[in-house]
Amino acid sequence: NQKVVLITGCSSGIGLALATRIAKDEKKRFMVYATMRNLSKGEALVEAAGRTLGRTMEIKQLDVCNEDSIKACVDSLPERRVDILISNAGMGMIGPIECQSIDEMRSVMDTNFFGLVRLLKEILPDMKRRKKGHIVVISSVMGIQGILFNDIYAASKFAVEGFCESLAVQALRFNLNISLIEPGPVITEFERKVYDEGLKTDLSKADKVTADMFTNIYLKNYKQIFETLGQSADDVAEHTFKIITMENPPFRHQTNTLYTPMTTLKYADPNGDLPIDTFYKMVFEHDKVFNASLNFLKLLRWRSRKSFTLEKDKNKD
Ligand code: NAD
Repeated sequence: NQKVVLITGCSSGIGLALATRIAKDEKKRFMVYATMRNLSKGEALVEAAGRTLGRTMEIKQLDVCNEDSIKACVDSLPERRVDILISNAGMGMIGPIECQSIDEMRSVMDTNFFGLVRLLKEILPDMKRRKKGHIVVISSVMGIQGILFNDIYAASKFAVEGFCESLAVQALRFNLNISLIEPGPVITEFERKVYDEGLKTDLSKADKVTADMFTNIYLKNYKQIFETLGQSADDVAEHTFKIITMENPPFRHQTNTLYTPMTTLKYADPNGDLPIDTFYKMVFEHDKVFNASLNFLKLLRWRSRKSFTLEKDKNKD
């Protein structure tokens, strides 16, 4: 009685790690349809999948920006059945908005937000009919809290969170679960691609202060943030694996305990000023405060009462 798992964006990063982790389940509880936009980019997944390929994993084409491609993929599954949908495909974008075109911004919204909407339009009606299903969405801590120069990306993840929060109430009526996975920085292709694109930003449309802030403060600290706080894709996959095997999965799950103090600031101040002031200090007094904060975060093992502890984490304590 295997559960059918459909995952998007599996050619790299978290999607690849997830597809592999789930297909390698010792108890063989899952049949994974690992999908990607471009099948010619499947080499890394094929290698990681090893002997699971053709057994507990199959690779399929799916472009979240194309409704026909989603429908064709779902139609090709036995009885069109998806027990667990993992919406992972996504893209990042950094920089000052005056240097980004509306078309570039649209493409981020189209992939990160409408990509999820398209998937659910195809899959949700079947799940409702069966009164069975788990929708897992790889969101981000930026779905809860905006970060400097990630304006459009954060907006796309906020859209994802608002959409899921609204749907979650309806889902309950059909016995369906929705879970938002919220990683902090993860060391994947994503980070490199976003950084490289960021480096290429044409800053001629930005004023000097903004351009300087982006180049000399944001980009300069970018790598350090990933090095200090970054998680591996395997780590995020492990967290997500745990969520899909839970009897009562939570609606939200942050994967990085080092980052939790930052998101907690948001809930600590109903006026909303505390996280903004803190980020301002971190960025503009970064020599002192930024490093102190990073060290503080490293020391602080804050856990919310509701969040679970992975066995691995327990052993570390
Ligand atoms: P990644 O770039 O390695 O993976 C993203 C995948 O999505 C790629 O394989 C890409 O080809 C695919 N994709 C893009 N557009 C697509 C489309 N139209 N159809 C199908 N696939 C498409 O990066 P990642 O870090 O593994 O990102 C996975 C998810 O995790 C994203 O939703 C991202 O927003 C989220 N996330 C990443 C980080 C991070 O720091 N890397 C942090 C929090 C959340």
